[in-house]
Amino acid sequence: MKKLENKVAIVTGSTKGIGKAIALTLSSEGAKVIINGRSNSTEAGDLVNEIQKKGNTAMFIRADVSKMTEVKEMVNQVLEEYGKIDILVNNAGISRDAFLVEMSQEDWWEVINVNLGGVFNCTKAVIRPMMLQRSGKIINISSITAEFGLRGQCNYASSKAAINGFTRSVAVDLATFGIQVNAVAPGMIATKMTEKLRKIAGNRILPLVFLERFGEPEDVAKVVLFLASDDSNYLTSEIIHVTGGLGAGIGARYWRG
Ligand code: NAD
Repeated sequence: MKKLENKVAIVTGSTKGIGKAIALTLSSEGAKVIINGRSNSTEAGDLVNEIQKKGNTAMFIRADVSKMTEVKEMVNQVLEEYGKIDILVNNAGISRDAFLVEMSQEDWWEVINVNLGGVFNCTKAVIRPMMLQRSGKIINISSITAEFGLRGQCNYASSKAAINGFTRSVAVDLATFGIQVNAVAPGMIATKMTEKLRKIAGNRILPLVFLERFGEPEDVAKVVLFLASDDSNYLTSEIIHVTGGLGAGIGARYWRG
């Protein structure tokens, strides 16, 4: 028996990168997966086809996670199609790096609204059905940056630190309803988001990774699968680091120096 047979999972921001790997991994374990992105794209259609060709179930729903009306429509569509939501992976995220002195208010609020607002909107939209069914797994994608901060990332680091606080608080709120809320905090993962950073600072960051390689999206997806499955039934309010050892204390200080 597959680990997520008959489960319905929404993975936000899953047309590429870490979200795509999560969608592929959850579907390979039998979950019916909702692929989500801010806009319609060929990537989204290709991913749905890839999952369906393997005999698994997927559908794409366009929704900007920072917009509550679009999130509610997405959740209603899932409930109409499948009648329930078992797993929510709050993965959608963006970065708009700049030193604070140069950071525009737009760049501040866009990152906060997508990264943190998106987690609030999607979580709020799914919890009523989860509370009624008295079960659910909510997995938020945070970042190691939440804990040590990074040059030019005060908006991004703030959003991720807030996600950790949100995770711990909502885990308390929802525990009595059988809903588990955890977060995964990746280190440096090889995706489009980190392409530029890896190019300009990769040679300084890599020596700080104990396992001596940047992570692959699948490294994160496997931990999300664990949190989405019954294997993690006694876990809630946790922030699991998937960093290869990056950020074990000295990392940020060394890099800044
Ligand atoms: P990515 O840029 O490759 O993919 C981001 C995805 O989010 C895309 O599918 C994009 O379409 C979607 N998205 C962006 N804004 C959206 C919105 N408003 N509504 C819906 N979807 C939206 O990024 P990634 O590296 O795969 O990052 C995925 C998550 O992991 C993010 O939350 C990111 O902050 C986090 N993370 C990434 C790393 C890393 O090293 N790559 C490290 C720590 C945390």
